[in-house]
Amino acid sequence: MKHFKEERTLVVIKPDGVQRTLIGEIIKRYERAGFKMVGIKMLVPTEDFIEQHYTLDPNWKKTTGEKTIASYIKKGMEPPIKDPIEQANFIVNGLKKYLSSGPVIAMVWQGSHVVQIARKITGGTEPLTSDVGSIRGDFVVDSYQMSDKDGRAVRNLIHASGSPEEAENEIKHWFKESELTKYRLVQDEILYDVNLDGILE
Ligand code: GDP
Ligand code: MG
Repeated sequence: MKHFKEERTLVVIKPDGVQRTLIGEIIKRYERAGFKMVGIKMLVPTEDFIEQHYTLDPNWKKTTGEKTIASYIKKGMEPPIKDPIEQANFIVNGLKKYLSSGPVIAMVWQGSHVVQIARKITGGTEPLTSDVGSIRGDFVVDSYQMSDKDGRAVRNLIHASGSPEEAENEIKHWFKESELTKYRLVQDEILYDVNLDGILE
């Protein structure tokens, strides 16, 4: 079985993150939490590549559609589309335009519980309700209501994988194994070494 510290996640800085000149700020958030960057590249994804990315998980449409509808209901509002799959198809069309509109930065980050902690650092999907202190909560304004009305995807700066399984599938979609580097960071010692017997001289 893999050690916790080998867990990996895919983080993509979306075109608005690049255009807002937030690349450094965003990388810093994951880096300072203690994670190790093991891959990075800039590219302009095609619409097909984005569609494939969001349909790697056969359940994604259902859960994403349901999440959006629930968020409308929670705010006491009528969801504009009531069928989860139809809602998700609308979102995918918006995402294809959004994510192929300019360069993105794709990264693989590694470390203990990186999937869950990277999601926490990233913040909830809808910037209107993302926690202050998270990247989405601190640096962007958007809502389901506004983006749905304008017929586009919510602009929220970042994609971060939702589960370790989703992460491994997404990493394979974005990176060749040869583009990822296995290496030791000095700080791995203080994060993961059990005996801490290598510090004192
Ligand atoms: P994430 O994992 O937090 O990024 O959220 P999801 O996987 O559920 O959705 C993927 C992306 O689709 C989000 O990051 C948003 O850019 C966009 N999106 C999600 N839900 C909605 C929605 O209800 N309306 C619109 N317009 N865009 C959405
Ligand atoms: Mg997701």
